[in-house]
Amino acid sequence: MTDRSDDYERTVPFAKVALDQIKAFRQSAAPRNYEIWYHYATGYNPALNRTINERLAKFGTLSTADLEQIHSDFFAPTRVGQQIDSIGGRVVGTLDQIMGVLEAAVGSTTRHSESLADASQQLGHAADGASIRRILGGLVRTVQAMEDSNRALEERLTASKEEINKLQRSLEEVRSESLTDPLTTLANRKCFDDALSRMVEHAHLRDEPLSLILTDIDHFKRFNDTYGHLTGDQVLRLVALSVKQNVKGQDLAARYGGEEFAVLLPDTTLRAATTVADYIRRAVMGKELMKRSTREILGRVTISCGVATLRAGDTMQSLIERTDTCLYAAKHAGRNRVICETDPEVSPATEMQIA
Ligand code: GH3
Ligand code: MG
Ligand code: MG
Repeated sequence: MTDRSDDYERTVPFAKVALDQIKAFRQSAAPRNYEIWYHYATGYNPALNRTINERLAKFGTLSTADLEQIHSDFFAPTRVGQQIDSIGGRVVGTLDQIMGVLEAAVGSTTRHSESLADASQQLGHAADGASIRRILGGLVRTVQAMEDSNRALEERLTASKEEINKLQRSLEEVRSESLTDPLTTLANRKCFDDALSRMVEHAHLRDEPLSLILTDIDHFKRFNDTYGHLTGDQVLRLVALSVKQNVKGQDLAARYGGEEFAVLLPDTTLRAATTVADYIRRAVMGKELMKRSTREILGRVTISCGVATLRAGDTMQSLIERTDTCLYAAKHAGRNRVICETDPEVSPATEMQIA
């Protein structure tokens, strides 16, 4: 739910571990190092922890160079920024190349036209067979040279076209990376916000329904405390999979926050969206969790869902708030259930309480 009153308790232990690591290795407590160790403490990014643990096992500490490398490898904004810089550099290089090819082509076309004009003039004055043969020989050489330079031009343009295609793919990769949540591979919050804004405008314009589902894992803090955050992360992946498997078409499934997911359902009524939410809820509940490393059975997790549909005059914020109110009501009514905005559990009193 959007109320993050537990944020303090959840994050301070991570901050403490981060500072302890900085102190233990006597590193600069600059934000970059803090960011690395904070993420390490959460364990949310297993690849980051693996890299750090490998360096620590080998060298006993992390050098400034290691920290720089880790930061540039794992912290997306910088990485995306660097990738965009490098793609920008490649675009400039490719354009320079194309300009060079075109300039060379214009130069050789001018030269060839001059020698053709020359030949035509000489033909006018040719008096005997020998000079006509000489002029024709010159013409054949000019035409061959034209063919050669056309071929070279074509090859260089094909190479530039391939480079441009590669650049396009790289840009697409960076774009999709910047809109994807790395843990669950669902759309991230930014992608969700952009899509919601677009879909709200579209739905108002066309007078079409637009529904929103918000889900939150039940008692997930307890689960993490019992089995650890890394196992918690596996559960997040599993819940994300259940969400993904139950949405289709133009629906957008996103990781809305830590252990909260959102599904945007354009052109979908409240009733239909409530059914989708219930499929997701059942799918999550139906999975028995097992710790891969030890094959220990961990039981099941459940989720609560809130569902609302866009009304005339709604903004994206008011739609989120109403959906969140339903989610709150689902928690209040005992969890592991779906509550939509027309259900009796969502009383005006509940709405007031949340506001
Ligand atoms: P409730 O049924 O009321 O939702 O209880 P809850 O314990 O799930 O409460 P809340 O939703 O406030 O808890 C959020 C918890 O989710 C806190 C934190 O332990 C966990 N969490 C948030 N983000 C992540 C994450 O990325 N990975 C893991 N493993 N846990 C996370
Ligand atoms: Mg929550
Ligand atoms: Mg929860």
